Amino acid sequence: MKAAVLENEKFVMKELDKPKLDGRLGAIVKVIGCGLCGSDIVKLRNHLVKDGSVLGHEVVGEIVDINTQTAFKKSDVVAMGHHIPCFNCPYCHSGHYSMCRHFKTTNIFPGGFSQYIFVSEEHLNNTVFEIRDLSYIEASFLEPLACCIRAVKRAGLHENTKNLIIGLGTVGILMGQASKAYGNEVYGCDLISERVKLSEDFGFDKSFVIDSDEKYIEEMKKYALIGFDNIFLTAGASSSLDLAVKLARDGANIIVFSSVKDNSGYKNNDIYYRELTIMGSYSPSPIDLEDSMNLLQSGKVNVDGLSVVYPLEKLNEAISDTISNKIMKAYIEL
Ligand SMILES: [Zn+2]
Ligand SMILES: [Zn+2]
Repeated sequence: MKAAVLENEKFVMKELDKPKLDGRLGAIVKVIGCGLCGSDIVKLRNHLVKDGSVLGHEVVGEIVDINTQTAFKKSDVVAMGHHIPCFNCPYCHSGHYSMCRHFKTTNIFPGGFSQYIFVSEEHLNNTVFEIRDLSYIEASFLEPLACCIRAVKRAGLHENTKNLIIGLGTVGILMGQASKAYGNEVYGCDLISERVKLSEDFGFDKSFVIDSDEKYIEEMKKYALIGFDNIFLTAGASSSLDLAVKLARDGANIIVFSSVKDNSGYKNNDIYYRELTIMGSYSPSPIDLEDSMNLLQSGKVNVDGLSVVYPLEKLNEAISDTISNKIMKAYIEL
């Protein structure tokens, strides 16, 4: 089968052995398409991916071979999450499923940027969902939307809070819609004016262009009144935390949802005197995946037009177009 395999910081097309069940429980899925995740790009940039690896986890595919005790069968078209918690450790008991030590040891094999993958019985039981009324591209948002749903839940599901999303790329747009779906007022800001406009098309109450004068901050404060209740940092820029601290109400939550290059930004005195809560949110649980499927299927979250389709052979181009902000999101078609 063909697969895009990392070699010297670039993906090259290679022939790999097709995964087989070989008597194991689980399924072989023929990949139809796979979203390119921002986290894949961060891993590549930070040289965390070994040569020979196949990436891709936002998979949509068709079951072509199966040996299972679940209800899944051959020809089912499915989308999935790639990690599974054990549900029975101190992390899982406290609701921090993505911190579970079992979580990261589980994965699909070899990765969504290949023609076929092996999906374990544990995946079928917990993180695989049949697609019914969704297009393949819509279904590829199952996992990234679930990540956002987790972040919104981490901030607390209180209705009528004023939430701000700093960074209006695909993840920001999903975060805003997830937040809306749970009954919040949603505001956004970004450096790129087209993205600001786009976020309003996707249902944000109001979004703002970040520019060098700080007038936009005054403008935002008019909407936030005493400050925003929850601020989500999705941009991967270390300046986001400064902005968040300026716009947070005292006692607010700041949810860190992206890694930054220089790993700086700890604001001791603001956190202390203003009782701010700064929390991370990383990767979804099986419950978040289920909620994500429901929001996509009910049309409460709309992903129309966010993805640009690339063939697997153009994965490198998809990556550079994403890095240069030429596109919002790439969907790799197999
Ligand atoms: Zn992802
Ligand atoms: Zn666990």
